[in-house]
Amino acid sequence: MRFEDYHISYEIKKNLSKLGFIKPTDIQFKSIPPILKGEDVLAIAQTGTGKTAAFAIPVIDMLAKRKNTDRKDGIKCLVMVPTRELAQQIADVFEKLSKHTRLKSYSLFGGVEQDAQISRLSESIDILITTPGRMFDLISQGHIRLDRIEILILDEADHMLDLGFIKDIIDVKRKLPSKHQTLFFSATINEKIKKLAYSLVKNPIRIQISPNDPVSKNVNHSVAYIKMDDKRFFLERLANENPESKILVFVRTKVRAERVFKAMERVNIKSVTIHGDKEQDDRFDVMSQFKKGEVKMLIATDISARGIDIPNVEYVVNYDLPDVPENYVHRVGRTGRGKEKGFAVSFCGEEEKLVLKEIEDFLGKEITETKIDKEDYHTTLDLTEDTDNNWKALLKQNEEFLKNKKKPRLSKKK
Ligand code: AMP
Repeated sequence: MRFEDYHISYEIKKNLSKLGFIKPTDIQFKSIPPILKGEDVLAIAQTGTGKTAAFAIPVIDMLAKRKNTDRKDGIKCLVMVPTRELAQQIADVFEKLSKHTRLKSYSLFGGVEQDAQISRLSESIDILITTPGRMFDLISQGHIRLDRIEILILDEADHMLDLGFIKDIIDVKRKLPSKHQTLFFSATINEKIKKLAYSLVKNPIRIQISPNDPVSKNVNHSVAYIKMDDKRFFLERLANENPESKILVFVRTKVRAERVFKAMERVNIKSVTIHGDKEQDDRFDVMSQFKKGEVKMLIATDISARGIDIPNVEYVVNYDLPDVPENYVHRVGRTGRGKEKGFAVSFCGEEEKLVLKEIEDFLGKEITETKIDKEDYHTTLDLTEDTDNNWKALLKQNEEFLKNKKKPRLSKKK
């Protein structure tokens, strides 16, 4: 089935075709019809499967049609998300898909001045995409009213739980009109999430994508055993061998992010970092450079990169393995988005083998090993441009030192 064959408005079809979306992805195929019928939906779909459009297409179609008959102002659809980047990204999809429909969408998040946001909110927004904190601030100041909401969407609900937003979600639900549609999207599922989901949705249509393999089938992912201290040389090699590819590198902490950045700088590889210590503007700036391909390597921590969609990321590198096994799925899901193919490789140090086992247990299968034979391993170390660590450079330096060293003169005894 193609989008052309759907009973959705001509404008949306045109917008989809502009984006190059011809056929629905799995999640879109399964979600669009029940959402259009007004059903509640509980969907388990990993990132990169096209889930944003899976809810945006039917929501835009329904609201655009209603807008022609019902002219009452007020926010009609509320999308709650865990991070600012995700809010922006979803708003971008809504904006692109709702061109020429008269619907207005807006993303709201903390960490920036609120005056401009308040003025935008007064311009009759139809679809609000928001992180919980700033929304509550503005509700309490009387700038946001939720009494016209017809559709509530929770995206990355599992991550919302991890970040402790459960009370916020329940509070929002209480403020909504009793009759509304709820769409609940999560990348992973466990007892806690199920409990939350069933407290929010009514007789939902349940949709699960690839239940046995949480990693998208478009991603070729593997593990390579590399000593902690040698990881940077392998990253350097990957970057040098793939100069045109975008590489997203995941590290455990902000300090590690800056350290890897410096290591790359020493070998003349341009990269940028994104983590919680960076100002919001800086984060957007860095993301934009990477998205446009002006910088090919982005070094990120888990929190800062959750849910973000960057087109054409060819490689994801787990420079450090994630402490939380679920995060493996989120990280490798940054590549192979939509219908693209992607590669993910985890650099596993000796001390990370236990974490790797936990990840494999979570996935329910072993991760394929990319074997590096001894010779290849040492060649990689030899090839580094990092003169502090380049064995060849050291040997050469040593040779020159010995050559230039003057023979010691024996001091004559008087
Ligand atoms: P998401 O899971 O919503 O973050 O989407 C992942 C990526 O898939 C995005 O880059 C979308 O542009 C792309 N995408 C979504 N739906 C389609 C489709 N039907 N055809 C091709 N690409 C798509």
